[in-house]
Amino acid sequence: MLKYVNTGVVFQEIPDETTLAINISGCPCRCPGCHSQYLWDDVGEPLTQSVLDDFVVQYGADITCLAFMGGDADPQEVNRLACYVHERWPQLRVAWYSGRLRVPSAVRKQDFDYIKIGPYIRHLGPLKKPTTNQRLYRRRPDGTFEDITSRFWTR
Ligand code: SF4
Repeated sequence: MLKYVNTGVVFQEIPDETTLAINISGCPCRCPGCHSQYLWDDVGEPLTQSVLDDFVVQYGADITCLAFMGGDADPQEVNRLACYVHERWPQLRVAWYSGRLRVPSAVRKQDFDYIKIGPYIRHLGPLKKPTTNQRLYRRRPDGTFEDITSRFWTR
Protein backbone atom coordinates (compact mmCIF):
# COMPACT_ATOMS: atom_id res chain seq x y z
CA MET A 1 0.00 0.00 0.00
CA LEU A 2 1.21 3.48 -0.82
CA LYS A 3 1.40 6.07 1.91
CA TYR A 4 1.58 9.84 1.66
CA VAL A 5 3.19 12.33 3.98
CA ASN A 6 1.68 15.63 2.86
CA THR A 7 0.15 17.50 -0.04
CA GLY A 8 0.35 20.95 -1.56
CA VAL A 9 -1.10 22.98 -4.40
CA VAL A 10 1.76 23.78 -6.77
CA PHE A 11 2.10 25.75 -10.00
CA GLN A 12 5.59 24.94 -11.29
CA GLU A 13 5.71 21.13 -11.37
CA ILE A 14 3.31 20.71 -14.32
CA PRO A 15 3.23 23.55 -16.89
CA ASP A 16 -0.17 25.20 -17.42
CA GLU A 17 -1.79 23.23 -14.59
CA THR A 18 -2.75 23.97 -11.01
CA THR A 19 -1.65 20.77 -9.39
CA LEU A 20 -2.38 19.05 -6.14
CA ALA A 21 0.93 17.30 -5.43
CA ILE A 22 0.73 14.24 -3.19
CA ASN A 23 4.10 13.42 -1.65
CA ILE A 24 4.37 9.64 -1.36
CA SER A 25 6.72 8.03 1.16
CA GLY A 26 8.73 4.79 0.97
CA CYS A 27 10.86 6.06 -1.93
CA PRO A 28 13.32 3.33 -2.95
CA CYS A 29 15.35 5.46 -5.38
CA ARG A 30 17.97 6.78 -2.94
CA CYS A 31 19.19 9.54 -5.23
CA PRO A 32 22.50 10.98 -3.97
CA GLY A 33 21.76 14.56 -2.93
CA CYS A 34 18.05 13.87 -2.47
CA HIS A 35 16.26 16.99 -1.34
CA SER A 36 13.39 15.02 0.24
CA GLN A 37 14.91 12.33 2.41
CA TYR A 38 11.86 12.51 4.66
CA LEU A 39 10.15 10.52 1.88
CA TRP A 40 12.51 7.54 2.16
CA ASP A 41 10.85 5.94 5.18
CA ASP A 42 7.60 4.01 5.19
CA VAL A 43 5.67 6.72 7.02
CA GLY A 44 2.45 8.68 6.65
CA GLU A 45 -1.14 7.78 5.96
CA PRO A 46 -2.48 5.19 3.51
CA LEU A 47 -3.20 6.64 0.07
CA THR A 48 -6.57 5.15 -0.82
CA GLN A 49 -9.34 5.91 -3.29
CA SER A 50 -11.35 7.43 -0.47
CA VAL A 51 -8.48 9.76 0.43
CA LEU A 52 -8.28 10.87 -3.21
CA ASP A 53 -12.03 11.51 -3.19
CA ASP A 54 -11.62 13.71 -0.11
CA PHE A 55 -8.83 15.70 -1.78
CA VAL A 56 -10.85 16.33 -4.92
CA VAL A 57 -13.92 17.37 -2.96
CA GLN A 58 -11.79 19.63 -0.76
CA TYR A 59 -10.02 21.42 -3.62
CA GLY A 60 -12.77 21.24 -6.22
CA ALA A 61 -12.30 23.53 -9.20
CA ASP A 62 -9.18 25.05 -7.63
CA ILE A 63 -7.07 22.27 -9.13
CA THR A 64 -6.79 20.99 -12.69
CA CYS A 65 -4.29 18.19 -12.11
CA LEU A 66 -3.44 15.65 -9.46
CA ALA A 67 0.19 14.50 -9.23
CA PHE A 68 1.56 11.40 -7.58
CA MET A 69 5.00 12.49 -6.38
CA GLY A 70 6.82 9.19 -5.98
CA GLY A 71 5.38 5.75 -5.50
CA ASP A 72 8.26 3.90 -7.17
CA ALA A 73 8.02 1.14 -4.56
CA ASP A 74 4.66 0.13 -6.05
CA PRO A 75 4.23 1.60 -9.55
CA GLN A 76 1.30 -0.67 -10.35
CA GLU A 77 -0.61 0.83 -7.43
CA VAL A 78 0.18 4.31 -8.76
CA ASN A 79 -1.21 3.14 -12.11
CA ARG A 80 -4.34 1.76 -10.45
CA LEU A 81 -4.99 5.01 -8.60
CA ALA A 82 -4.39 7.02 -11.78
CA CYS A 83 -7.08 4.97 -13.51
CA TYR A 84 -9.40 5.55 -10.59
CA VAL A 85 -8.94 9.32 -10.75
CA HIS A 86 -9.56 9.38 -14.50
CA GLU A 87 -12.73 7.32 -14.15
CA ARG A 88 -14.10 9.07 -11.08
CA TRP A 89 -12.94 12.62 -11.89
CA PRO A 90 -12.54 12.82 -15.69
CA GLN A 91 -12.04 16.58 -15.63
CA LEU A 92 -8.70 16.15 -13.84
CA ARG A 93 -5.37 15.48 -15.47
CA VAL A 94 -3.14 12.94 -13.74
CA ALA A 95 0.63 13.24 -13.41
CA TRP A 96 3.31 10.96 -12.04
CA TYR A 97 6.76 12.01 -10.86
CA SER A 98 8.96 8.92 -10.88
CA GLY A 99 12.60 8.80 -9.82
CA ARG A 100 13.33 5.84 -12.08
CA LEU A 101 15.20 5.95 -15.37
CA ARG A 102 12.23 4.63 -17.33
CA VAL A 103 8.59 3.73 -16.87
CA PRO A 104 8.22 0.11 -15.67
CA SER A 105 6.78 -2.25 -18.27
CA ALA A 106 3.94 -3.13 -15.89
CA VAL A 107 2.70 0.47 -16.03
CA ARG A 108 0.37 1.65 -18.79
CA LYS A 109 1.67 5.08 -19.74
CA GLN A 110 -1.58 6.03 -21.45
CA ASP A 111 -3.23 6.12 -18.02
CA PHE A 112 -1.29 9.30 -17.28
CA ASP A 113 -1.45 12.76 -18.80
CA TYR A 114 2.05 13.65 -17.66
CA ILE A 115 5.01 11.52 -16.63
CA LYS A 116 8.27 12.80 -15.23
CA ILE A 117 11.10 10.30 -15.14
CA GLY A 118 14.70 10.37 -14.01
CA PRO A 119 16.49 10.32 -10.68
CA TYR A 120 17.81 13.51 -9.17
CA ILE A 121 21.51 13.87 -9.99
CA ARG A 122 22.91 16.85 -8.21
CA HIS A 123 25.52 17.97 -10.74
CA LEU A 124 22.96 17.81 -13.58
CA GLY A 125 20.31 19.64 -11.62
CA PRO A 126 16.50 19.50 -11.44
CA LEU A 127 14.01 19.98 -14.27
CA LYS A 128 14.45 23.73 -14.33
CA LYS A 129 18.13 23.38 -15.32
CA PRO A 130 18.84 22.81 -19.04
CA THR A 131 21.57 20.35 -17.99
CA THR A 132 19.09 18.08 -16.23
CA ASN A 133 18.82 14.37 -16.92
CA GLN A 134 15.15 14.40 -15.89
CA ARG A 135 12.35 14.57 -18.46
CA LEU A 136 8.70 15.57 -18.31
CA TYR A 137 6.43 14.06 -20.96
CA ARG A 138 2.88 15.10 -21.88
CA ARG A 139 0.45 12.73 -23.54
CA ARG A 140 -0.93 13.95 -26.84
CA PRO A 141 -4.54 13.26 -27.89
CA ASP A 142 -3.29 10.42 -30.11
CA GLY A 143 -1.68 8.69 -27.12
CA THR A 144 1.93 9.44 -27.97
CA PHE A 145 4.07 11.44 -25.59
CA GLU A 146 6.01 14.63 -26.20
CA ASP A 147 8.99 15.82 -24.20
CA ILE A 148 8.04 19.19 -22.70
CA THR A 149 11.03 19.51 -20.38
CA SER A 150 12.17 22.64 -22.17
CA ARG A 151 9.08 24.43 -20.86
CA PHE A 152 10.91 24.70 -17.55
CA TRP A 153 13.82 26.56 -19.11
CA THR A 154 12.00 29.47 -20.70
CA ARG A 155 10.30 30.95 -17.65
S1 SF4 B 1 13.14 10.06 -6.30
FE1 SF4 B 1 12.95 12.03 -5.22
S2 SF4 B 1 12.48 11.50 -3.06
FE2 SF4 B 1 13.25 9.64 -4.07
S3 SF4 B 1 15.45 9.61 -3.57
FE3 SF4 B 1 15.20 10.61 -5.59
S4 SF4 B 1 15.07 12.81 -5.14
FE4 SF4 B 1 14.71 11.70 -3.22
